[in-house]
This record gives sequence, structure tokens and C-alpha cells, in this order.
Amino acid sequence: MATLNSDLVVLEPHRPPAPWSGDAGALAEALKNNVSGEVRFDAGSRALYATDGSNYRQVPIGVVIPRSIEDVVATVATCRSFGAPLLSRGGGTSLAGQSCNVAVVMDWSKYVNQILEINEQEHFARVRPGVVLDHLRAATKPHHLTYGPDPSTHAWCTLGGMIGNNSCGTHSQMAGKTVDNLEELDILTYEGLRMRVGWMTQEDLAAKAKEPGRVGEIFRGLQQIQVRYAGQIRERYPNIPRRVSGYNLDQLIPDSSGRFNLARALVGSEGTLVTVLEAKLRLVHDPAFRSLLVLGYPDIYAAADAVPDLLYSAPIALEAIDHLLFENMRKKHLHEDYLGLLPKGKGWLLVQFGGESREESKAKADELMQKLQSQPNPPDMKLYPDDADAKHIWTIRESGLGATAFVPGEPVTWEGWEDSAVAPEKLGGYLRDLCKLYEKFGYIGALYGHFGTGCVHTRISFDLFTPRGVDHYRKFIEEAADLVVSYGGSLSGEHGDGQSRAELLPKMFGTELVGAFREFKELWDPQWKMNPGKVVDPYRIDENRRLMDEAERWDPKTHFHFPDDEHSFKRATLRCVGVGKCRRTIGQEPGDDTMCPSFLVTHEEKHTTRGRAHLLFELLKGEELEPKWRDEHVKEALDLCLACKGCKGDCPVNVDVATYKAEFLSHYWDGRLRPRHAYAFGWIDKWARLASVWPGAVNLATQTPGLAYVAKVAAGVAPQRDIPQFAPRTFKSWFL
Ligand SMILES: Cc1cc2nc3c(=O)[nH]c(=O)nc-3n(C[C@H](O)[C@H](O)[C@H](O)COP(=O)(O)OP(=O)(O)OC[C@H]3O[C@@H](n4cnc5c(N)ncnc54)[C@H](O)[C@@H]3O)c2cc1C
Repeated sequence: MATLNSDLVVLEPHRPPAPWSGDAGALAEALKNNVSGEVRFDAGSRALYATDGSNYRQVPIGVVIPRSIEDVVATVATCRSFGAPLLSRGGGTSLAGQSCNVAVVMDWSKYVNQILEINEQEHFARVRPGVVLDHLRAATKPHHLTYGPDPSTHAWCTLGGMIGNNSCGTHSQMAGKTVDNLEELDILTYEGLRMRVGWMTQEDLAAKAKEPGRVGEIFRGLQQIQVRYAGQIRERYPNIPRRVSGYNLDQLIPDSSGRFNLARALVGSEGTLVTVLEAKLRLVHDPAFRSLLVLGYPDIYAAADAVPDLLYSAPIALEAIDHLLFENMRKKHLHEDYLGLLPKGKGWLLVQFGGESREESKAKADELMQKLQSQPNPPDMKLYPDDADAKHIWTIRESGLGATAFVPGEPVTWEGWEDSAVAPEKLGGYLRDLCKLYEKFGYIGALYGHFGTGCVHTRISFDLFTPRGVDHYRKFIEEAADLVVSYGGSLSGEHGDGQSRAELLPKMFGTELVGAFREFKELWDPQWKMNPGKVVDPYRIDENRRLMDEAERWDPKTHFHFPDDEHSFKRATLRCVGVGKCRRTIGQEPGDDTMCPSFLVTHEEKHTTRGRAHLLFELLKGEELEPKWRDEHVKEALDLCLACKGCKGDCPVNVDVATYKAEFLSHYWDGRLRPRHAYAFGWIDKWARLASVWPGAVNLATQTPGLAYVAKVAAGVAPQRDIPQFAPRTFKSWFL
């Protein structure tokens, strides 16, 4: 094991944000008057936005769905006049709790999602924050350009969220993180100051610092941070490809040309500093052809050890999966057909090359294969000339999170230490030590991720249900933080700090730099209203837990048995881990996933598989919603579910809303008269049998204009629909 810091940092005493004690009703009224978008302060909407992809839960004050930038400006102004905290939200897929808070949540995803410009000559795009990454990539593709950072959630995460989290993905090997691919931001502070920020020289900074009022104050503060902390920043910011933890204060230090980019310093601030209104993004050349080579090693450590050498071949992506992930997928029958495509081994590296022609990208892969073949103990190798096979291999890799959660016969695994990062050349050692830590604490967790940039993904079998388990989890996280710091790494190499890691930042940066984070926060948000309790002066990692008081959640008697969920509906409502794949609106081609048809039409969170599952969780929680089967919010959310079972197959954790809907509705209607159409269609077999006795008379009643109208009203059928005619004889009498 690497030597741990001898002077381990003791975490600071907790300074929780002051709770907001304003009048939510009056705030809602004011917002309704000032905003043309949707303002929802009802219990159902608040429950719906209480969590993200993390282990945390904080019920918001209310939800605003702005229609325009003017709406956003009005929302911020109205919240300011009530002193209410604010939280922006895109796809809500954050894994560290930075997308839930006791705040007014602005959901950008539904309306404020325009691509404003794609500049082919100068390689940039201007977007609103609600744009989904794959929508942008589809628009830039014809220009042979792409946006480089590509999280696994690329088909549903938003650019606002990516800027908030400093996201990146498989191709950070080629293009870096969001911070490396951003030119300018149009921002709004909580105080109402709107600015366009981007590249500046020290002279620009000095000129701005002379301006009167808040502008001058902010820029003078930036000057002071530069002067006071430049040394500490150079010394303590790890020089590794995947440092995502902490504010990007390193971006305030001028580069060799004497410039720095203020917009980049705001990237990764998780909505705690400013609201982003527009972004100018750098586009990169998109290699026209890609070739995938997979290398099989005896174990994941051997795969990690091989990484530094492979980097000399300049792949555009270098990813890993281990045998545990492979086994989990087999047990879950997830992409089972694709697993057979992998070469032999128990730890695999996916090495992708780009080129302007198929021959060029393949030649790079061939060259690497020859080189490896000439060395002792070469890995088992497989090149995938067929694009469909390569796509299947990437599907295995991208399914990592879903594949490792809720594996039959295995303990449930959770996020919490799911994206730490070290320098690629230290990866093998770090992984060995991390696994020793798992052993010490009795945990298991598959290992996979972006090995080419030293970032490790894993979900760990923490017990988050019992106080003892949570205590154990906390101790593990503290030791894991010490371990990664001893390797010169980063607590987060991808997903951000949120609440899962922010408390640990002093271990990584030291108390002085954490003080600099506090100064930076205070410059932009002196009232501490922007996503409070995240990143700076954060909530503890073990508070606001979604599973807090789980034993007290309602555990109702049900008709279905839920055999995959310990025979408990309560347990089934825990299944959704917030991946958000049900929010996908792009890539829906024949053969692609079905989930979720109702969201595709309404673009409403409550009509996603995730939204419905979360509302059912909240129903049993009984805090915002009454723990009774007759809740109208839940009924409304489930109403548009087509019971197509798309989610059961497509959701990475097999959330089965159709079954949950049947369970809920059976209790909802128990002892009540159902709507007319329920009798008309629920008993269609009986009506049809009766109609077959007098088909002529029935057709007369359903097809004659006036009578048909009465029949449709009686059956609860929409007047514009036609009732099908009955055949003059039944099929059976014709056949016999
Ligand atoms: C299965 C799974 C796989 C993932 N894989 C990856 C991966 O490969 N790489 C990766 O980087 N991440 C990954 N993530 C994490 C997450 O998907 C990404 O960070 C994603 O970019 C977040 O986008 P979002 O739209 O969901 O953001 P949200 O979660 O909605 O928001 C993220 C942060 O941005 C802030 N924000 C949003 N809009 C604005 C705005 N207009 N102004 C100011 N702040 C704003 C929010 O307040 C929040 O703090 C994964 C998550 C899951 C569930």
C-alpha cells in the first residue's frame, strides 16, 4: 500500500446552510405572476424532484419550468426578493447529490434547449443550457465536428449539467473535459448581475477591477485569489487528466500567453456560483472512421498496468471492464449476446482508434496488435471490423452502472466512491490498494471505467440501511479519500463533489485552498443562495440520505409478489437509481429502446419511468405524499403509462412500471366506481360475446351518426374515434 499522508486532515466542523423560512405560498404566487413558464409548488412536483442519480434526497421548495431566458431572469429575481435558495437542473443525472436541494428548482430541460449557432469555420457552437448533448452532436455531425466530452448519459444529459459538473467521458482521451472545451458563458448571479465571461488578459482583469459596484468587487476579488493562492494552486492541484473535484481555481492562473478563461473557472461549480444562460462551446474534428480493438488480460490489475504503454499508440478512447461486471451482466441477462464477443480474459481494455478512412483507423489498431504480439505474455486480442459488433461492445461498457446495481443473488451496490482518479501510470497500484480496502471493510464492487485517463468506476456494496452500516460506509470513504490523495489523485474524476465528496475536499486540497473556494463562492454568491450546502461548507456525506429512516417507510400488502425485490413492493420502489435512460429523446430508431413512450410526447419528468418510480418511493415515504393508495399525484403520473413493459426490458435496473401501475390502480379503485371506459374496455370480451349474438343491431347502434355519438359517450370513447364494426358471423361459426 502507498504511504498515506502522515498529517491526515481532520475534517472541519459542520456548517450547515441556514434553512429557508420564507412563505412558499407567496413565493409561488409571485413566480406565477412573473414567469410565463410553469410554476409547480404542489406536493407531487416537489416529491418528483426530491432526488437525482445519487443516494441523497432533499425536497425542493418548488419547481419552475422556464419557457425562456426572460423566465429564468424573472425566476432568479423573484427568488431573490424572497431570499429563496436556487438550484438549476438539466437531466438530473448527477450521482453525487448536486442536483437536489431545499431550493427552488429550475428545470431547463423542457423548453430552454435551443442550439443557437454552429460555426463550421471557427469550430464553435452556442447553446442554451437545456440542450441534450446528443442533439448537439447530431447537429454538428454533418460538419464533421463534434463536442468532445461524452458522458455515458450523452443521449439525455444536458449541456448545462455538463458545464455544472465538468463532465466528460470515453473520449476525454481525445478531447479532455468540459472545462477544456468551453470558450464563453453568459451568466447571471443571484443578485441579478448578467455578464458574458471568457478569455481575458491580466490587463482586462485590472480594467474590470476598476469598475464601480459589484462588477469591480468581483474582479478585485479574483485578483486577490490569483495573488494569494497561485502558489498553493500550483502545488496542490493534482496534475492528472481527471481532476474534477474542487472549484477550477487553476483556470484563474494565466497561461503562457498571459491569458486565462473566467468561464472555465466557473465550470464544475455545480450550480453553486452562478446560473448559466448560454454557452459557447469548442467543437473538435470528428474522426470519420473508428476501429475498436479489445485486449483481454488475466485480471483488471494487469489491464491497468498495461495502460501507460498503450497510451503511446494515441488511442482516442481507452476504457476498461472487469470480470465482475461481466458476471453481473450474465446474471442479469443484460446484453448477454454481446458478452461472447469479448476476447478471453478477466480484465479487458477497449482501445479505439480514429482515422479519416477505415484503413487508417484499422492500420493503427493493427500496428498496436503487432507490437503487443511481439512482447512476452501478450493479451488475447480481438479487432471488430464490423461496426455493429463494436457498437455492442460499447453498449457493454456504457451499461456499467446499471449492470452493477441490483444483481440477482448479490448485495445491492451504491454510488459514493464511484469515480476517483489517479495518474494513469499509478492506476495498477491504486486499484490493488483500493481492493485491499474493500476486503478490509467487507465490500465488493466491480471495477471499470476510463483507465486511459486514470478514472475508476465502481459501485460498492455499502450497507446504507442501518446506522452501523452508514458508520462503516463513512469510515471507508474517509480511508479511500486518504488513499487516493496519497496517490496524488482526485476524489472525483468525473461526477463531481456534490454532497458525496465535498466534505472530504480539505483532505485533497488542504484547508487553505478550501478557504479559497469559500472566498470564490462568496464573490459570486455573497448571500449563499446558489445550491447551498454543496461543494463549500457542505452537508455531511451521511446526512440527507435517501435511505434515512427506510425502516419507517410504509410496507403495504400487495397483490403482486415482487420476487426479484425480496417479495416487497417497498423494496421495488428503491430499484430506480436515477440513471435517466427513460429521458432519452434521440436515437429512437427501429430496434432501439422503447422506453419511455409517454415521456417522448410530454417531456415531463413525471412521465418517465424514473419519475413514476420516484413518486411511488415518495408515496411509501409518506412525507410529501400521504401514504395511501388514493394519491392523485401518483395516479396522474401513472395514467399515461401505456403498460408497454418497455421499461422492464430497457431500464438498466429493470424498473417495471406496468406492474407497479397495476398494483397501484387496483388499490386506487378498490371499492370505487371506475370511469366508464374502464368498464367498456376492461370487459370488452364480455361485450364482444354479447354483440356477436346480434351484430347487425349492435353495428346499427355504433355506426349510425347520432346513435354512434351516444354509444361513444356511454363507453367513454373520444367522439373523433370510430367504433369498429362486428362481423356478421363469428370466426368460430365460420370455421366450424
Ligand atoms: C448511468 C450514469 C452514467 C454517467 N456517466 C457519466 C460519464 O461518463 N461522465 C460524466 O462526466 N458523468 C457521468 N454521469 C453523471 C452525469 O450524467 C453527468 O455529469 C451529466 O453531464 C449531468 O448532466 P445533467 O443534465 O443530468 O445535469 P444535472 O444533474 O441536472 O445538473 C448537474 C449540475 O449542473 C448544474 N446546472 C445545470 N444547469 C445549470 C445552469 N443552467 N446553470 C448553472 N448550473 C447548472 C446543476 O445545478 C447541477 O449541480 C453519469 C451518470 C449516470 C446516472
